[in-house]
Amino acid sequence: MNVKTSLDARPIIDVRGVWKRFGPAEVLRGIDLAIRKSEVTCIIGPSGSGKSTLLRCIAFLEEYSEGEIYIEGELLGFALEGGRRRRVSDAEVARVRRNIGFVFQQFNLWPHMTALENVAMPLKLARGIPREDATKRARAMLDKVGLTNRAEAYPSQLSGGQQQRVGIARALAMEPHIMLFDEPTSALDPELVGEVLQVMRDLAAEGMTMAVVTHEMGFAAQVADTVVFIDHGVIGASGSPEQVFRRDENPRLRQFLQNYF
Ligand code: ADP
Ligand code: MG
Repeated sequence: MNVKTSLDARPIIDVRGVWKRFGPAEVLRGIDLAIRKSEVTCIIGPSGSGKSTLLRCIAFLEEYSEGEIYIEGELLGFALEGGRRRRVSDAEVARVRRNIGFVFQQFNLWPHMTALENVAMPLKLARGIPREDATKRARAMLDKVGLTNRAEAYPSQLSGGQQQRVGIARALAMEPHIMLFDEPTSALDPELVGEVLQVMRDLAAEGMTMAVVTHEMGFAAQVADTVVFIDHGVIGASGSPEQVFRRDENPRLRQFLQNYF
């Protein structure tokens, strides 16, 4: 193995023994998950199994209770001191998660701003990029998701699929190394799902590192390098799509997949 492959083989997201509790509820119960550069990991599982919580912990939108999450080799959210962990400052958290983009099920666009402004605004606010440069980059991102001609439209004038593509453009504008998607097509009418999945397929083909919570098993089968099945806060199965979708020794997984195949 040459030096480059061995470096690339290091996980870009490394989740080790992570627990998340909300009061007495143990929502994540010892999650281990490694995602390497340019890999696509699809996370599947029943409602309430902890999929969103896991993704939110990886972006530190939730503070995890135990374990470690490393992003590009750096511990996220905490510093380890003599075996104890100490919460680091918000600025330090922001620095480590700076290269993570997040796309939500609900598009969360600002209704009073055009598509272009929705993509450009975070660049100005969070990155301090001057207006003209921000607008230019925002246009390029809208081109990328196939919305060149809808830049001046307001969210209410866009279909759900177009709104979600604006959401993806907004995340991509920040030039992330990692993209996290939480059920990006679940709020869409069925005929609009394909256009969003196509944008995600293109991103994967360009080598973006992605973790995708989804119920689109066709997408997972085609695009994922790894499929992870979460059940009651633990990883019940993981492997290539062929392995996970054909696995029949795990009755919970078998039962879950029966709803889809
Ligand atoms: P999934 O995305 O797989 O449907 P979630 O991660 O959203 O599941 O939720 C997993 C469990 O954690 C659920 O039982 C949910 O009620 C609980 N949960 C999620 N967020 C919170 C919260 N902020 N406070 C309390 N419980 C929560
Ligand atoms: Mg969820």
